[in-house]
Amino acid sequence: MASSSSYSNSPCAACKFLRRKCMPDCIFAPYFPPEEPQKFANVHKIFGASNVSKLLNEVQPHQREDAVNSLAYEAEARIKDPVYGCVGAISVLQRQVIRLQKELDATNADLIRYTCNNNNNDDLPGQGSANQGGGGSSSTSLGQQSPSDYYYPSPWNNY
Ligand SMILES: [Zn+2]
Repeated sequence: MASSSSYSNSPCAACKFLRRKCMPDCIFAPYFPPEEPQKFANVHKIFGASNVSKLLNEVQPHQREDAVNSLAYEAEARIKDPVYGCVGAISVLQRQVIRLQKELDATNADLIRYTCNNNNNDDLPGQGSANQGGGGSSSTSLGQQSPSDYYYPSPWNNY
């Protein structure tokens, strides 16, 4: 008697939401604990409970937690941004990466220019800025490349 009531006392978030009895072999139970009702509500709203259950049955048990986390993330993003979903967040971050790469590139070019000016100041003035085509002045051609092809000289490799 005690064993029969132990699991029926706290149905998982999915079964509670769907108003059904949570069985011991419930596919949702390990991933949708009753403490996180919103997680299942989001996933159900975007993907549908039967699709989620189908998907969980198709993936290996050790991959199910990752799959649920991914679904929950995508569902939440889609609810916040119905047009772009998580793609919106990705493009914001990509723009940020491109901006920061350009910033890093410019700063490294400044550093190289500054170092060369200091080294060549006494003997050959002017050579510093002209001779450093390999490192410093390549920043002008970087604009034509795709963001992932950016070459930015890192100071910790130069010294
Ligand atoms: Zn359940």
